[in-house]
Amino acid sequence: MKKISVLIPMYNEQEVLPALYERVSALINRIPEYDWEIIMVNDGSKDNTAVIAMQIHANDKRFHFVDLSRNYGKEVAMMAGFDVVSGDCVVIMDADLQHPPEVIPAMIAEWEKGYDDVYGERITRGKEPWLRKKISLLYYHLLQKTTKTPILENVGDFRLLDRSCIEAIKQLRETHRYTKGLYCYIGFKKTKVPFEQANREVGQTKWNFFSLLGLAIEGLTSYTTMPLRLATIMGSCVSLGAILYLIYIIIKTLIVGEQVAGFPTLMVAILLLGGITLLSLGIIGEYVGRIFNETKNRPNYFIREIDGKKVNTVSYADLLD
Ligand code: UDP
Ligand code: MG
Repeated sequence: MKKISVLIPMYNEQEVLPALYERVSALINRIPEYDWEIIMVNDGSKDNTAVIAMQIHANDKRFHFVDLSRNYGKEVAMMAGFDVVSGDCVVIMDADLQHPPEVIPAMIAEWEKGYDDVYGERITRGKEPWLRKKISLLYYHLLQKTTKTPILENVGDFRLLDRSCIEAIKQLRETHRYTKGLYCYIGFKKTKVPFEQANREVGQTKWNFFSLLGLAIEGLTSYTTMPLRLATIMGSCVSLGAILYLIYIIIKTLIVGEQVAGFPTLMVAILLLGGITLLSLGIIGEYVGRIFNETKNRPNYFIREIDGKKVNTVSYADLLD
Protein backbone atom coordinates (compact mmCIF):
# COMPACT_ATOMS: atom_id res chain seq x y z
CA MET A 1 0.00 0.00 0.00
CA LYS A 2 1.32 3.43 -0.90
CA LYS A 3 1.82 5.84 1.92
CA ILE A 4 0.76 9.48 1.74
CA SER A 5 2.11 12.03 4.18
CA VAL A 6 0.37 15.29 4.93
CA LEU A 7 2.60 18.03 6.25
CA ILE A 8 0.99 20.83 8.25
CA PRO A 9 3.16 23.61 9.72
CA MET A 10 1.43 25.28 12.65
CA TYR A 11 2.09 28.45 14.56
CA ASN A 12 -0.47 29.57 17.15
CA GLU A 13 -3.33 27.67 15.55
CA GLN A 14 -5.13 26.40 18.67
CA GLU A 15 -8.54 27.68 17.56
CA VAL A 16 -8.50 25.93 14.22
CA LEU A 17 -7.02 22.56 15.24
CA PRO A 18 -10.30 20.79 16.16
CA ALA A 19 -11.86 21.79 12.82
CA LEU A 20 -8.66 20.82 11.01
CA TYR A 21 -8.66 17.38 12.64
CA GLU A 22 -12.29 16.86 11.73
CA ARG A 23 -11.88 17.81 8.06
CA VAL A 24 -8.63 15.90 7.55
CA SER A 25 -9.66 12.75 9.39
CA ALA A 26 -13.01 12.69 7.55
CA LEU A 27 -11.10 12.89 4.29
CA ILE A 28 -8.60 10.16 5.03
CA ASN A 29 -11.30 7.87 6.34
CA ARG A 30 -12.92 8.13 2.93
CA ILE A 31 -9.71 7.03 1.19
CA PRO A 32 -8.58 3.79 2.85
CA GLU A 33 -6.63 2.66 -0.25
CA TYR A 34 -3.64 4.53 1.11
CA ASP A 35 -1.65 4.45 4.27
CA TRP A 36 -1.89 7.93 5.82
CA GLU A 37 0.58 9.82 7.95
CA ILE A 38 -0.27 13.33 9.08
CA ILE A 39 2.72 15.29 10.36
CA MET A 40 1.81 18.35 12.38
CA VAL A 41 4.89 20.52 12.84
CA ASN A 42 4.53 22.91 15.73
CA ASP A 43 6.69 25.91 14.94
CA GLY A 44 7.22 27.11 18.51
CA SER A 45 3.62 28.21 19.12
CA LYS A 46 3.01 30.37 22.16
CA ASP A 47 -0.54 29.16 22.71
CA ASN A 48 -1.97 25.69 23.35
CA THR A 49 -1.28 24.31 19.88
CA ALA A 50 1.21 21.77 21.24
CA VAL A 51 -1.17 20.45 23.90
CA ILE A 52 -4.06 20.07 21.47
CA ALA A 53 -1.86 18.46 18.83
CA MET A 54 -0.62 15.94 21.40
CA GLN A 55 -4.25 15.12 22.28
CA ILE A 56 -4.99 14.55 18.62
CA HIS A 57 -2.01 12.21 18.40
CA ALA A 58 -3.10 10.38 21.53
CA ASN A 59 -6.52 9.54 20.13
CA ASP A 60 -5.56 9.02 16.47
CA LYS A 61 -2.17 7.44 15.83
CA ARG A 62 -2.17 8.43 12.16
CA PHE A 63 -1.55 11.98 13.35
CA HIS A 64 2.00 12.70 14.42
CA PHE A 65 3.36 15.67 16.21
CA VAL A 66 6.78 17.23 15.68
CA ASP A 67 7.65 19.95 18.16
CA LEU A 68 10.37 22.35 17.06
CA SER A 69 12.55 23.95 19.74
CA ARG A 70 11.34 27.49 18.91
CA ASN A 71 9.64 29.53 16.21
CA TYR A 72 11.68 29.30 13.02
CA GLY A 73 9.15 30.54 10.48
CA LYS A 74 7.02 28.58 8.06
CA GLU A 75 9.75 27.96 5.50
CA VAL A 76 12.02 26.23 8.00
CA ALA A 77 9.10 24.42 9.65
CA MET A 78 8.37 22.90 6.24
CA MET A 79 12.00 21.90 5.87
CA ALA A 80 11.83 20.07 9.18
CA GLY A 81 8.68 18.39 7.93
CA PHE A 82 10.36 17.25 4.71
CA ASP A 83 13.11 15.63 6.78
CA VAL A 84 10.59 13.72 8.87
CA VAL A 85 7.91 12.56 6.43
CA SER A 86 8.16 8.96 5.32
CA GLY A 87 5.42 8.73 2.69
CA ASP A 88 5.74 7.98 -1.01
CA CYS A 89 4.51 11.52 -1.48
CA VAL A 90 3.74 14.47 0.74
CA VAL A 91 0.91 16.98 0.64
CA ILE A 92 1.75 20.32 2.20
CA MET A 93 -1.13 22.39 3.50
CA ASP A 94 -1.77 25.31 5.84
CA ALA A 95 -3.30 24.65 9.22
CA ASP A 96 -5.83 27.46 8.87
CA LEU A 97 -7.94 25.51 6.34
CA GLN A 98 -7.35 28.09 3.62
CA HIS A 99 -6.18 25.07 1.65
CA PRO A 100 -9.26 22.85 1.53
CA PRO A 101 -8.25 19.22 2.28
CA GLU A 102 -11.04 18.09 -0.05
CA VAL A 103 -8.78 18.98 -3.00
CA ILE A 104 -6.23 16.34 -1.98
CA PRO A 105 -7.92 13.43 -3.86
CA ALA A 106 -7.65 15.42 -7.11
CA MET A 107 -3.94 15.90 -6.41
CA ILE A 108 -3.47 12.21 -5.72
CA ALA A 109 -5.22 11.38 -9.00
CA GLU A 110 -2.67 13.50 -10.90
CA TRP A 111 0.19 11.92 -8.93
CA GLU A 112 -1.09 8.47 -9.87
CA LYS A 113 -0.99 9.58 -13.51
CA GLY A 114 2.75 10.03 -13.07
CA TYR A 115 3.22 13.69 -12.15
CA ASP A 116 5.85 14.45 -9.51
CA ASP A 117 4.79 17.90 -8.38
CA VAL A 118 1.07 18.66 -8.31
CA TYR A 119 0.53 22.24 -7.22
CA GLY A 120 -2.68 23.93 -6.23
CA GLU A 121 -3.45 27.01 -8.25
CA ARG A 122 -5.66 29.56 -6.54
CA ILE A 123 -8.59 30.60 -8.66
CA THR A 124 -9.73 32.89 -5.88
CA ARG A 125 -7.55 34.19 -3.12
CA GLY A 126 -10.19 34.39 -0.38
CA LYS A 127 -10.64 37.52 1.64
CA GLU A 128 -7.47 39.56 1.53
CA PRO A 129 -6.83 43.27 1.66
CA TRP A 130 -7.01 44.84 -1.82
CA LEU A 131 -3.60 46.48 -1.58
CA ARG A 132 -1.92 43.24 -0.48
CA LYS A 133 -3.40 41.41 -3.46
CA LYS A 134 -2.19 44.09 -5.90
CA ILE A 135 1.30 44.32 -4.42
CA SER A 136 1.63 40.57 -4.40
CA LEU A 137 0.70 40.33 -8.11
CA LEU A 138 3.12 43.13 -8.99
CA TYR A 139 5.83 41.39 -7.02
CA TYR A 140 5.46 38.07 -8.81
CA HIS A 141 5.50 39.92 -12.08
CA LEU A 142 8.80 41.53 -11.13
CA LEU A 143 10.27 38.26 -9.90
CA GLN A 144 9.28 36.57 -13.17
CA LYS A 145 11.05 39.22 -15.17
CA THR A 146 14.34 38.92 -13.32
CA THR A 147 14.91 35.18 -13.23
CA LYS A 148 15.56 32.42 -15.68
CA THR A 149 13.55 29.73 -13.89
CA PRO A 150 10.04 31.15 -13.80
CA ILE A 151 8.12 31.31 -10.52
CA LEU A 152 4.45 30.56 -10.94
CA GLU A 153 1.85 33.16 -10.11
CA ASN A 154 -1.05 32.39 -7.80
CA VAL A 155 0.64 29.24 -6.62
CA GLY A 156 1.40 28.81 -2.96
CA ASP A 157 2.61 26.03 -0.77
CA PHE A 158 -0.47 23.86 -1.23
CA ARG A 159 0.93 20.98 -3.28
CA LEU A 160 1.73 17.32 -3.52
CA LEU A 161 5.34 16.27 -3.96
CA ASP A 162 6.53 12.86 -4.99
CA ARG A 163 9.28 11.19 -2.95
CA SER A 164 11.81 12.13 -5.66
CA CYS A 165 10.95 15.83 -5.21
CA ILE A 166 11.16 15.53 -1.43
CA GLU A 167 14.64 14.03 -1.70
CA ALA A 168 15.63 16.85 -4.07
CA ILE A 169 14.32 19.61 -1.79
CA LYS A 170 16.00 17.97 1.19
CA GLN A 171 19.34 18.53 -0.50
CA LEU A 172 18.73 22.27 -0.78
CA ARG A 173 19.72 23.21 2.73
CA GLU A 174 20.16 26.95 2.44
CA THR A 175 19.41 29.00 5.51
CA HIS A 176 17.50 31.74 3.71
CA ARG A 177 14.68 29.77 2.26
CA TYR A 178 12.16 30.77 -0.30
CA THR A 179 10.48 27.43 -0.82
CA LYS A 180 8.25 28.65 -3.65
CA GLY A 181 11.40 29.29 -5.66
CA LEU A 182 12.89 25.93 -4.66
CA TYR A 183 9.92 24.00 -6.08
CA CYS A 184 10.58 25.65 -9.43
CA TYR A 185 14.34 25.18 -9.16
CA ILE A 186 14.15 21.42 -8.72
CA GLY A 187 12.06 20.98 -11.86
CA PHE A 188 10.39 17.53 -12.25
CA LYS A 189 7.12 16.88 -13.98
CA LYS A 190 4.58 19.41 -12.79
CA THR A 191 0.88 19.86 -13.21
CA LYS A 192 -1.76 21.94 -11.50
CA VAL A 193 -5.03 21.40 -9.74
CA PRO A 194 -7.26 24.46 -9.30
CA PHE A 195 -8.69 25.25 -5.89
CA GLU A 196 -10.63 28.03 -4.25
CA GLN A 197 -8.69 29.51 -1.40
CA ALA A 198 -11.02 29.76 1.56
CA ASN A 199 -10.97 32.55 4.08
CA ARG A 200 -8.95 31.95 7.20
CA GLU A 201 -11.35 30.05 9.48
CA VAL A 202 -10.30 31.45 12.83
CA GLY A 203 -7.23 33.00 14.33
CA GLN A 204 -5.07 35.58 12.61
CA THR A 205 -2.67 35.61 9.72
CA LYS A 206 0.93 35.51 10.94
CA TRP A 207 2.08 37.91 8.27
CA ASN A 208 2.27 41.63 8.72
CA PHE A 209 3.65 44.27 6.38
CA PHE A 210 7.23 43.85 7.55
CA SER A 211 7.32 40.06 7.51
CA LEU A 212 5.87 40.10 3.99
CA LEU A 213 8.45 42.67 2.93
CA GLY A 214 11.09 40.39 4.46
CA LEU A 215 9.81 37.41 2.49
CA ALA A 216 9.71 39.51 -0.67
CA ILE A 217 13.36 40.55 -0.22
CA GLU A 218 14.19 36.93 0.58
CA GLY A 219 12.56 35.85 -2.65
CA LEU A 220 14.45 38.36 -4.73
CA THR A 221 17.85 37.94 -3.14
CA SER A 222 17.81 34.18 -2.79
CA TYR A 223 16.58 33.68 -6.28
CA THR A 224 18.27 36.26 -8.44
CA THR A 225 21.36 38.48 -8.48
CA MET A 226 19.49 40.99 -10.62
CA PRO A 227 19.55 43.75 -7.94
CA LEU A 228 23.36 43.60 -7.96
CA ARG A 229 23.33 44.05 -11.71
CA LEU A 230 20.91 46.94 -11.23
CA ALA A 231 23.42 48.62 -8.89
CA THR A 232 26.11 48.22 -11.55
CA ILE A 233 23.85 49.66 -14.23
CA MET A 234 22.81 52.62 -12.09
CA GLY A 235 26.43 53.28 -11.16
CA SER A 236 27.50 53.17 -14.80
CA CYS A 237 24.71 55.51 -15.93
CA VAL A 238 25.51 58.07 -13.26
CA SER A 239 29.26 57.87 -13.97
CA LEU A 240 28.66 58.34 -17.68
CA GLY A 241 26.42 61.33 -16.98
CA ALA A 242 29.09 62.76 -14.67
CA ILE A 243 31.81 62.41 -17.34
CA LEU A 244 29.65 64.12 -19.97
CA TYR A 245 28.85 66.90 -17.51
CA LEU A 246 32.57 67.23 -16.70
CA ILE A 247 33.44 67.71 -20.35
CA TYR A 248 30.66 70.26 -20.66
CA ILE A 249 31.96 72.23 -17.65
CA ILE A 250 35.55 72.23 -18.90
CA ILE A 251 34.55 73.49 -22.32
CA LYS A 252 32.17 76.04 -20.84
CA THR A 253 34.86 77.33 -18.45
CA LEU A 254 37.37 77.62 -21.28
CA ILE A 255 34.95 79.56 -23.47
CA VAL A 256 32.94 81.81 -21.15
CA GLY A 257 34.94 81.52 -17.92
CA GLU A 258 33.44 80.67 -14.56
CA GLN A 259 31.39 82.80 -12.22
CA VAL A 260 30.95 80.95 -8.92
CA ALA A 261 27.42 79.81 -8.93
CA GLY A 262 25.65 76.52 -9.38
CA PHE A 263 24.82 75.65 -5.80
CA PRO A 264 21.60 73.81 -6.82
CA THR A 265 23.43 71.71 -9.41
CA LEU A 266 26.04 70.81 -6.84
CA MET A 267 23.46 69.82 -4.25
CA VAL A 268 21.51 67.70 -6.72
CA ALA A 269 24.67 65.92 -7.84
CA ILE A 270 25.82 65.21 -4.28
CA LEU A 271 22.42 63.99 -3.11
CA LEU A 272 21.85 61.84 -6.16
CA LEU A 273 25.26 60.25 -5.98
CA GLY A 274 25.00 59.77 -2.21
CA GLY A 275 21.61 58.15 -2.62
CA ILE A 276 22.70 55.77 -5.32
CA THR A 277 25.88 54.87 -3.42
CA LEU A 278 23.95 54.06 -0.25
CA LEU A 279 21.33 52.07 -2.15
CA SER A 280 24.01 50.04 -3.89
CA LEU A 281 25.81 49.43 -0.61
CA GLY A 282 22.53 48.31 0.89
CA ILE A 283 21.92 45.85 -1.94
CA ILE A 284 25.43 44.45 -1.65
CA GLY A 285 24.94 44.31 2.11
CA GLU A 286 21.83 42.13 1.69
CA TYR A 287 23.86 39.61 -0.25
CA VAL A 288 26.91 39.78 2.04
CA GLY A 289 24.59 39.18 5.00
CA ARG A 290 23.28 36.07 3.31
CA ILE A 291 26.78 34.84 2.54
CA PHE A 292 27.67 35.39 6.19
CA ASN A 293 24.67 33.40 7.39
CA GLU A 294 25.26 30.56 4.94
CA THR A 295 28.95 30.24 5.85
CA LYS A 296 28.05 29.63 9.50
CA ASN A 297 26.60 26.39 8.21
CA ARG A 298 24.34 25.85 11.18
CA PRO A 299 21.54 23.32 11.25
CA ASN A 300 18.41 25.20 10.25
CA TYR A 301 16.27 23.92 13.09
CA PHE A 302 16.21 21.71 16.15
CA ILE A 303 13.45 19.30 17.03
CA ARG A 304 12.44 19.16 20.67
CA GLU A 305 10.11 16.19 20.62
CA ILE A 306 8.41 13.84 18.18
CA ASP A 307 5.10 12.39 19.37
CA GLY A 308 6.04 13.46 22.88
CA LYS A 309 9.37 11.60 22.83
CA LYS A 310 12.64 13.49 23.21
CA VAL A 311 14.86 13.46 20.15
CA ASN A 312 18.33 12.20 20.94
CA THR A 313 18.74 10.00 17.96
CA VAL A 314 19.13 11.05 14.36
CA SER A 315 16.71 8.52 13.02
CA TYR A 316 13.33 10.23 12.95
CA ALA A 317 11.76 7.22 11.30
CA ASP A 318 12.20 5.11 14.45
CA LEU A 319 10.58 7.75 16.58
CA LEU A 320 7.54 8.07 14.35
CA ASP A 321 6.14 4.61 14.88
N1 UDP B 1 3.21 29.28 10.10
C1 UDP B 1 4.31 28.65 10.70
N2 UDP B 1 5.29 29.42 11.28
C2 UDP B 1 5.23 30.79 11.29
C3 UDP B 1 4.13 31.41 10.65
C4 UDP B 1 3.14 30.63 10.08
O1 UDP B 1 4.41 27.42 10.71
O2 UDP B 1 6.14 31.41 11.83
C5 UDP B 1 2.14 28.46 9.48
C6 UDP B 1 0.73 28.80 9.95
O3 UDP B 1 0.41 28.13 11.14
C7 UDP B 1 -0.11 28.33 8.79
C8 UDP B 1 0.80 28.60 7.59
O4 UDP B 1 2.12 28.71 8.10
O5 UDP B 1 -0.38 26.95 8.84
C9 UDP B 1 0.39 29.85 6.84
O6 UDP B 1 0.36 30.94 7.71
P1 UDP B 1 -0.71 32.10 7.60
O7 UDP B 1 -2.09 31.54 7.46
O8 UDP B 1 -0.49 33.01 8.76
O9 UDP B 1 -0.27 32.82 6.26
P2 UDP B 1 -1.21 33.36 5.07
O10 UDP B 1 -2.20 32.29 4.76
O11 UDP B 1 -1.86 34.59 5.61
O12 UDP B 1 -0.26 33.63 3.96
MG1 MG C 1 -3.43 31.45 5.97
